[in-house]
Amino acid sequence: MKNFDVVIIGSGPGGYVSAIRCAQLGFNTALIEKYNTLGGTCLNVGCIPSKALLDSSHHYDDAQKHFEKHGIEAKDIKLNFKQMIDRKNEVVSQTTGGINYLMDKNKITVFNGFGSFKDATHITIAQADGATETIEATKTIIATGSKPSSLPFIKVDKKRVITSTEALNLTEVPKHLIIIGGGVIGLELGQVYLRLGAQVSVIEFMPSIIPTMDAMLAKELQRSLKKQGMKFYTGHKVTSVKNEGKEVIVIADDKKENLIEFKGDYVLVAVGRRPYTDKLGLENAGVKLTDRGQVETNAQLRTNIPNIYAIGDVVKGAMLAHKAEEEGVLVAEIMAGQKPHIDYNLIPGVIYTWPEVASVGQTEEQLKVNGIAYKVGAFPMRALGRARASMDIDGQVKILADATTDEILGVHMIGARAADMIAEAVTAMEFRASAEDVARMSHAHPTYTEAIKEAALAATGNRAIHV
Ligand code: FAD
Ligand code: NAD
Repeated sequence: MKNFDVVIIGSGPGGYVSAIRCAQLGFNTALIEKYNTLGGTCLNVGCIPSKALLDSSHHYDDAQKHFEKHGIEAKDIKLNFKQMIDRKNEVVSQTTGGINYLMDKNKITVFNGFGSFKDATHITIAQADGATETIEATKTIIATGSKPSSLPFIKVDKKRVITSTEALNLTEVPKHLIIIGGGVIGLELGQVYLRLGAQVSVIEFMPSIIPTMDAMLAKELQRSLKKQGMKFYTGHKVTSVKNEGKEVIVIADDKKENLIEFKGDYVLVAVGRRPYTDKLGLENAGVKLTDRGQVETNAQLRTNIPNIYAIGDVVKGAMLAHKAEEEGVLVAEIMAGQKPHIDYNLIPGVIYTWPEVASVGQTEEQLKVNGIAYKVGAFPMRALGRARASMDIDGQVKILADATTDEILGVHMIGARAADMIAEAVTAMEFRASAEDVARMSHAHPTYTEAIKEAALAATGNRAIHV
């Protein structure tokens, strides 16, 4: 029987990154993946394909709406949707292929098959052709990720009533895409199809979209997407979804005693994801789950069974690729006797719509609930020369700083390239910078990052220069 120091089940950003770090630390490491390609949700049906379609559809939208203003005459711009999907698939296969290379380079043994615990130190791998093999693991990391969740009364048929996985692989642009859930997936994929010509209606249960982020972001993003043509039905509870062949009918209660009917050709169910531990044999190893179906872990991501750890979407916390990666590294280093640490407050959250949304630290709502006295400094993108040059004037940067110490407690931004700009806020907060520290740093002109400096100036006594 083959024996490994560490066996990792699941090759998403949590699993494959952890495998590399384990190998770097000298562990004889194996990675088990049930699908033919490595990379998990993120690389195959998540982060990478969604960003590829967001980029392509952004070009199409720009060509149609903004080229003329820039003085570019491009007549008869046509959509070749099949080519757009093909390019997305090429990006995915290049990226997943890159993981095979990294596994080879780091001498990680990859098993292609479904892994399940036989007991706490043995894992059986069932291959697609029916063959099975059992391997021995001194330590195991569960990195089995998540799957889309749904509502009890919805039958996801994957044809008309779909999840993000199918939405990334459609063969036609919907005429009317009804989206249940105004969260990250709903808004990113909604914007893709909006740009490609679909009518898009977003039905959100809570009073606002992206309800866990700072309220300013929800307000600004909704305003911007509404201007682009997206329709919003916030505070609406979906009560039924009926698939009538080529038409799907969704009924939602507007919580004012009205039932609203939506008719469309596709319904995207985007109400969150659930941890995935199906048929993993956790009971054979004695590993406990939480009430919410997550693998229960302590602060060191160790399960109740001492030689078994769990990371990423299958454990508590934000379901984000970079959070899974940090956890993968942390567990490898803990197993090597090191003392790593993750500050979960400083894991940024990003929505790759345009304008982009990015956030780190505490929201204004959280500071209020926690009774922390704070100062606010905000700066609108439209006041930046860089934003006017590119016609990306929607959005703002908001910095929240401690009222007494001036330490930055949260940074929330919406605007062009916010996804990349948030790294500055993470760096500043990692080093516990004050708003004054950031306000005194030179920011290249003209860049979008000047909005961060100006917001920091605004937070330190109304000193913003350009408003
Ligand atoms: P996963 O990536 O889900 O990987 C788990 C792997 O384990 C899978 O490959 C699965 O097949 C395998 N597996 C499960 N059980 C077994 C078993 N028993 N045996 C063998 N293999 C098994 N996050 C971001 O940070 N940025 C984004 O832009 C972003 N965009 C997203 C867009 C979409 C449409 C979706 C759906 C998600 C997006 N996410 C994004 C979330 C991100 O994909 C996840 O947070 C991330 O993939 C979690 O990584 P993971 O390693 O925990 O699990
Ligand atoms: P989400 O949690 O972001 O949003 C789900 C939304 O659905 C919430 O706003 C929620 O209030 C709403 N909702 C729940 N029940 C509802 C109901 N019955 N009717 C109407 N609305 C309802 O989840 P998601 O958008 O499905 O994404 C899943 C996960 O994938 C997220 O945790 C996210 O972190 C991750 N993801 C991240 C990115 C990114 O980082 N850019 C992109 C896509 C997905």
